Amino acid sequence: MTQKYDVVIIGGGLAGYVAANYLAKSNVSILIVEKGMKSGGRARTDVMKQQSFNLGPHALYKKGKAKPILHELGVKLHGKSPKMGATLIDNNSEYTAPFSPLGLLSTNHLNWKERLEWIRVIFIIMRSKPDRLANQTYKHWVEETTPSIKVQSLLYVLGRLSTYCHAHELVCAKVIVSHLQLVLAGVLYLDGGWQTIIDQLHNKAVMSGVQVRTHETVKQIIHVEEEIKVFVSNNEEITAKYVISTMSPQILSKMLDISAYNFTPLKGATLDVALTQLPNPKRLFALGVTEPYYYSVHSTAAHLSNNPNNFVLHVFKYYHPNDEIDGNSTKIELESFLERFQPGWKDYVITSRYIPQLTVNHRLPQVGDEQLLKSSKTGIQGLYIAGDWASPEFILSEGTICSGKHAAEAVLQDTLR
Ligand SMILES: Cc1cc2nc3c(=O)[nH]c(=O)nc-3n(C[C@H](O)[C@H](O)[C@H](O)COP(=O)(O)OP(=O)(O)OC[C@H]3O[C@@H](n4cnc5c(N)ncnc54)[C@H](O)[C@@H]3O)c2cc1C
Repeated sequence: MTQKYDVVIIGGGLAGYVAANYLAKSNVSILIVEKGMKSGGRARTDVMKQQSFNLGPHALYKKGKAKPILHELGVKLHGKSPKMGATLIDNNSEYTAPFSPLGLLSTNHLNWKERLEWIRVIFIIMRSKPDRLANQTYKHWVEETTPSIKVQSLLYVLGRLSTYCHAHELVCAKVIVSHLQLVLAGVLYLDGGWQTIIDQLHNKAVMSGVQVRTHETVKQIIHVEEEIKVFVSNNEEITAKYVISTMSPQILSKMLDISAYNFTPLKGATLDVALTQLPNPKRLFALGVTEPYYYSVHSTAAHLSNNPNNFVLHVFKYYHPNDEIDGNSTKIELESFLERFQPGWKDYVITSRYIPQLTVNHRLPQVGDEQLLKSSKTGIQGLYIAGDWASPEFILSEGTICSGKHAAEAVLQDTLR
């Protein structure tokens, strides 16, 4: 027998669960189909030897649009902000980062003239209207904003930290500056990891009657008259009035045989590590200037282990879209970046995990993308999009959560017609 639902949501990640929880407030039947063994997608947290590993470093913007949406859905967030004191590695030398008032006073990365220029540029960022930057690349905006090469390089570091984008000549200034404004307002590392968001959204959805099927892959979507037919792995056919897809644009385009969502994915490599002790407890956060590396001890701000004396940290490499990825050499690079701050760390390992290639965001945000993403509706009646790539303004969880809400609202509007 064909199963019938008002709405089928493809994907049980953040976007899918946000959409489901909004829709569940009205009287519609909803099914989430998730291909993974468990829900969560890239917001999942894996517990290994009692240490909670997010899928690479995850930080939630304190003043973004995602946090109020999660609050509206009744999600409780517990965690703290990491300290802004950071080390910069520039051409193999170490400097204090000017990302905090103390760092600005004590850094020898910038001379006094450059420090004043950095302050001026931070004020420009805070006062910027990102909408006006939709037609230029971040590189263009940076070069227009400051002539100082040192300050430009810091803007590239901060842009990378805020968005994971390591291609300033390609990315849209509007998206990067929006995220810079958010990062300057602070971030949260979450107790128990991002799975706590997923678990709360899942429980609320199920309590409201949403059905969730895991370990089932949607293979095909066909629009027939007033309905959409969704075919899952076992060739079962599910019929829906509306479908929200949170799959990647690449898979969706292939499934529909269209080229509309031809975006470049944004990738990186992560080394997630839990240690019994930090050889050097003062070195907690560092960023590469010339090299695209990140290192942060997340457990200093969030509970990520059963044992409060353990440490959970992430080391990350940001990839450029043209990089030829060599997983083995990247692993050595990440391990030696960590060795610089925590010499002898391998003696204290409880568990660790290295993932050489991860899609951080399904869309490297580029000038002109906005035109394609103005609406969550697709060219196919009843089919809507959500996910990290589907918001015209934001990427990462900001884009994900906003687009999940927008897609649900668009479906609800259509049901009222
Ligand atoms: C290393 C890394 C670091 C990050 N750091 C941050 C950060 O610091 N701050 C931040 O805001 N964001 C961060 N993010 C981004 C954030 O995790 C994502 O934006 C968010 O989790 C994406 O949610 P989504 O629902 O769009 O996609 P996903 O989580 O990928 O969910 C989509 C789901 O759809 C399922 N699916 C796909 N195809 C099918 C199919 N055919 N049938 C059924 N199911 C299907 C997938 O299995 C998946 O579970 C980071 C991501 C990564 C990878």
